[in-house]
Amino acid sequence: MGMPAFDAVVIGAGPAGNAAAITLAKGGAKVLQVERGKAPGEKNLMGGVIYSSSLSPIVPNFWQSAPLERPVTEQNYWVTDGGSVAKFGFADSAFAESEDGPANAYTVLRAPFDKWMAGEAKKAGAMLLPATVVTDLLMEEGRVVGVATDRPNGEIPAKIVISGEGVNAFASWKAGFGKRPDPSEVALVVKEVIELPQGVLEARFGVGAGEGKTFEIFGDITQGCLGYAFLYTNKNTVSVGVGGLVTDFADLKLASYELLENVKNHSVVRPLLEGGKTLEYGGHLIPEGGYTSLPPLVSDGFLMTGDAALMVNAVHREGSNFAFASGRMAGEAALEAIASDDLSAKGLSGYRTRLEDSFILKDLKSYEGVFPFFRSRRDIMEDYPAIMTDALRSLFTVDGTAKGQKKKDLVKAVFKAKRPLALLSDLYKMWRVLGK
Ligand SMILES: Cc1cc2nc3c(=O)[nH]c(=O)nc-3n(C[C@H](O)[C@H](O)[C@H](O)COP(=O)(O)OP(=O)(O)OC[C@H]3O[C@@H](n4cnc5c(N)ncnc54)[C@H](O)[C@@H]3O)c2cc1C
Repeated sequence: MGMPAFDAVVIGAGPAGNAAAITLAKGGAKVLQVERGKAPGEKNLMGGVIYSSSLSPIVPNFWQSAPLERPVTEQNYWVTDGGSVAKFGFADSAFAESEDGPANAYTVLRAPFDKWMAGEAKKAGAMLLPATVVTDLLMEEGRVVGVATDRPNGEIPAKIVISGEGVNAFASWKAGFGKRPDPSEVALVVKEVIELPQGVLEARFGVGAGEGKTFEIFGDITQGCLGYAFLYTNKNTVSVGVGGLVTDFADLKLASYELLENVKNHSVVRPLLEGGKTLEYGGHLIPEGGYTSLPPLVSDGFLMTGDAALMVNAVHREGSNFAFASGRMAGEAALEAIASDDLSAKGLSGYRTRLEDSFILKDLKSYEGVFPFFRSRRDIMEDYPAIMTDALRSLFTVDGTAKGQKKKDLVKAVFKAKRPLALLSDLYKMWRVLGK
């Protein structure tokens, strides 16, 4: 194989691939980005909230040109059980956009957002090859030296290949980097985008222009799936979705579209969406294997980023920021390797060091026990919402019982539902996996 025309080939034009391509191109490297969609973002789907702190280092002042929907100024967590819902939320004016800088987070729709970000890569000098699938990695003596595509004579040599393929990293798996995750380690999430007149949306959700809200809903609304439902406000649409482990749908004999229909018709959700028009419907996977299942992140001539590398923190609904940050770090490490003419895993090891020093590997490590724990203790997701709503119902029901007696009854009822030792043990175990 002759001298490669490209310093780097980036597979995918999602958040990770775009971040890597922008970083490489801004650093002066010759970059080709290969995307299977006819246009970037065409088939991509997320909730979706993106976080400014991870995007700003890649595209400074992004909020002035990116197709953002609404700043997230209030986050809400609801717990449902039967006809009850416990609501907790947090709003902060510091989360809003100001003259000094962007909001903490924004809602986006992926089709326009990915297109915009891939446009930034092009502006920086990267070339985009759309409607092209990377089918395999080219290998020479154990090193990755380019990609094979579904185009005629579609082999593309490159000094370095960066995978930003997302959850279905078929090309990487085929070449032996990572493997198809077990169905118990992948969530299936279905989502609709529902249009409402902007004034109606703002009145129903209590948001003004420049404000937005997120709602994550736990409890029996997921019908036994290990996951949550969500509602995110966009400009004049609402993203509504729900997910659970792939194995849940099989075990519970539940179709994903039925689960979403039930969410939309739930008494706490229906009034918010009444009269809306469905513009989009789709499903997508989220890898939840986490730290213990990470594929090799750095190999000779090859780096894995974002969902392809299982970098998601589903508890905090973070994945796009892991993708932005890991894509940027892969780009930076690749620039170092190109400059020093060492394309080996050693030359690219700056990627691993950056990941270790950042929130990425720290967060993945501290949350490594969460999914194994909740997978083995599904009763927790069923029992505690009921205990919480029963306790609150009893507390708020005015029925002539003296408050002192009510509190005693409440404690008795909680301990009847869960023995004190079992309760303490569950709280301790939850703290152990979530509190690190
Ligand atoms: C329903 C849902 C809601 C979510 N909500 C949130 C949220 O609110 N906030 C958050 O931070 N995260 C959220 N996530 C997670 C987030 O979407 C992902 O972590 C993030 O998109 C990962 O980015 P990525 O670039 O690694 O992969 P992707 O976004 O999947 O991008 C991969 C790209 O590579 C392309 N591609 C794949 N294979 C090939 C190939 N062989 N050849 C060429 N091109 C290829 C794809 O077409 C795609 O454009 C959500 C996920 C889902 C499914």
